[in-house]
Parts: sequence; C-alpha cells; structure tokens
Amino acid sequence: MKINSHFLDLKDNYLFSTVGAKTAAYRAAHPEKDVIRLSIGDVTRPLAPVVIEAMRRALDDLSRTETFKGYGPDRYVYAYEPLLASIRDSYARKGVAVSFGEIFVSDGAKSDCGNLLELFSADNTVLIPDPVYPAYLDANIMAGRRIIFADANEGNGFLPMPDESVRPDLIYLCSPNNPTGAAYSRAQLKAWVDYANRLGAVILYDAAYEYFIEDDLPRSIFEIEGARDCAIEICSYSKTAGFTGVRCGYTVIPDTLERGGVKLNRMWARRQSTKFNGVSYVTQMGAAAVFTEEGERQTRENIAYYKRNAAMIGETLSSLGIWYTGGINSPYVWMKCPRGMDSWSFFDYLLENANVVGTPGSGFGKNGEGFFRLTAFATAENTAEACLRLKTILK
Ligand code: PLP
Repeated sequence: MKINSHFLDLKDNYLFSTVGAKTAAYRAAHPEKDVIRLSIGDVTRPLAPVVIEAMRRALDDLSRTETFKGYGPDRYVYAYEPLLASIRDSYARKGVAVSFGEIFVSDGAKSDCGNLLELFSADNTVLIPDPVYPAYLDANIMAGRRIIFADANEGNGFLPMPDESVRPDLIYLCSPNNPTGAAYSRAQLKAWVDYANRLGAVILYDAAYEYFIEDDLPRSIFEIEGARDCAIEICSYSKTAGFTGVRCGYTVIPDTLERGGVKLNRMWARRQSTKFNGVSYVTQMGAAAVFTEEGERQTRENIAYYKRNAAMIGETLSSLGIWYTGGINSPYVWMKCPRGMDSWSFFDYLLENANVVGTPGSGFGKNGEGFFRLTAFATAENTAEACLRLKTILK
C-alpha cells in the first residue's frame, strides 16, 4: 500500500508556532512587561446581537418536534433558503445577479480553497501569488500539482498582474489580500479575467475580506465582465461577521462556467453531496441574519472598529516614513521592515524594544522577506499603545 507521498513535499510551517514560542519565552523572561500582540489573525469582537438572536430562535426550533430540523434540504446541497436569499440579496447590492443554484454554503473559506481542487486534474499547473495565505500552496502540494508563482513585491504594490509568458490552468487570487492587505482595482481584475478567459484557465477568487473594502474597488470578481466564464468566488463569514469559531462561508460557481464541456457547478454539487453534509441549522440561521439591514449595520460596527485600528497603524507608519500596503480596505497592514532589517530580525527588535508582536513576512513566501504584517484585531487601547511605542522606537 502506498501513501500519498506528496504530503512528504510539504514544508513544516513554523511561522505561527515560532511567533508564539518566542513571545512566550519573552513573557516568561520579562513577566513585568506588557506585551501587545498585533499578530492576531483572528477576530476578537463578539458576534452581532442580531446573529445571536437568530441563533437562539433556531435553537428553539430544534427544541420542538414541530419545528425540529435534521439534515438540511437536498435541493441546494443542504443550504436553507433564507440563507441563500440573504446571500443573493447581498450580491444584488453589489450589482451582481446570482441564483440559489450557484451558491454553495460551506463551513468556511479554507475548506473550499483546497477542496475545489478536486474538480481539476492533478496534471494542471496552478499559479499562486507570493506572498500568500499558506493554505493554497499546501493544498496544491498535497495534490502533487505543478506550482508557479506570481511575484508580489513593492514594485507592483503587492498586486501581481498576469504574465503572458506562463500558461496556468488554475489561478488563485485573494483580494483584499492576506497577508498584504492590498486590493485589486476593477481594471486590474479585468486584466486577470481576460487572461484567464484567453487561456481557458479558472480563477479561484478568495473574497474572505471583501467586507473591509471601503474604496471604489470591486467586492466581487463577478462585478467584472467575463468573470462568470472563468471564476469561482470563495467567501466567508469569518472576518465579515466574526464567525471564525462558528464556521460558515459560501462559494459561488456560476452556471455558465464550463470546462471540458461540463458545468463546474454540477460537478461541485455532486462532490459536496458526496463528501459534505452541510452546515448546522443554527449556524445557517445566524449567518442569514448577517446580511439583513440590521445585521449589516451591526456587523459594520465591528468592522469599523477594526478599521480604526488599521488606520491608526497606517498613520503611525506614514508619520515614520515607512512604506506599507493595506490598512484601508483590509484589517492587515503590510510594512517594509525599517533600517534594512529582515523579517525575523525586525520581529525580535520589535518584541524586545517595544514589546509588540507582529508576524514576519518571510513566513508567507520568499517575497515576504524584509516585510512584516501587523493586524487590526487587537483592542483599540492596545493598538493605540502599540502605535505610541512604534513611534518611540522607530522615530
Ligand atoms: N482565506 C483567507 C485569505 C484567509 O485569510 C482566511 C483566514 O484567515 C481564510 C480564507 C479562512 O477563512 P475561514 O475561516 O472561512 O475558513
């Protein structure tokens, strides 16, 4: 019997464990120091009250024989119609028409970012930006796929554009991006869509942070003409509505998207109904409250809280003359390490001199070397204090 030996090609990713271990060691050696973590990649604000109320009502349903729910409805691969309607309406507000059959409710974006690969042959070549959210890379290594990278760097504002000299079959794009916070414009996304359509490639578009967009930028790739013929969009309630622990997302596969004469939408429905049994009723009802009028208002309050933190960090870096991306349409600020330091040297310097923890950019890919990620998920008080300390040590 043979194992999938591609797993042996995976590199251990020590990024977050090393950050945690170094921080713990520093705290143990300096118990009197108040260490502030601007490395948090998880939300910290509680769920919106409308979501909690909707979940309570759903629990009540489960407590009564007449309203009890077991497996979700088969028709839309276990998604309940009120949730699908709220997602459809949220798209309609962006000027995008999607039908119930094009929406697949998931337990979050991460699973789909990897599982969608099952629709495509392992012989395909995949294009992945560098630096990047590590799950895309590892999922493709596990599948033994040929990987090429799109270099994101200071020169292109960490927004790589199509390279006509390569011919990928699959293209991962993430906008607003983790870790860089950079977000594509309409013209830039149009160039990717045209490129994918020319090549017959499929774009896997990760829109996990679209609710952080405030500038006039596309919030869905389906705002771009031609995207319905080449793109799959992966969305999440995690960062939008604080569902990192609750677990819910959705993926849109247009009915018009075909490859090899087959609708990918139908393939995915078949895949999901075989390998997935849906998201819990309570979770789906909570998620359905997010895109109601009141849900959006409450959700946006939390996002605004994080964005004020991001703005504080951005203003601090600007005042210090330090180059960065992100922080406006994203909870992430991606800064250039000052004084020519590499990512880990700056990590140590910041921890020891400011007692602030961030995430070394080199952990997200080779192009991340010399850069550093700060996040907006700490409290406003801690973010303000961390900014003061940055100003003191970096002025
Ligand atoms: N995609 C990106 C770019 C992310 O940064 C994250 C989480 O940090 C995810 C997907 C995972 O989201 P989910 O919690 O929905 O699985």
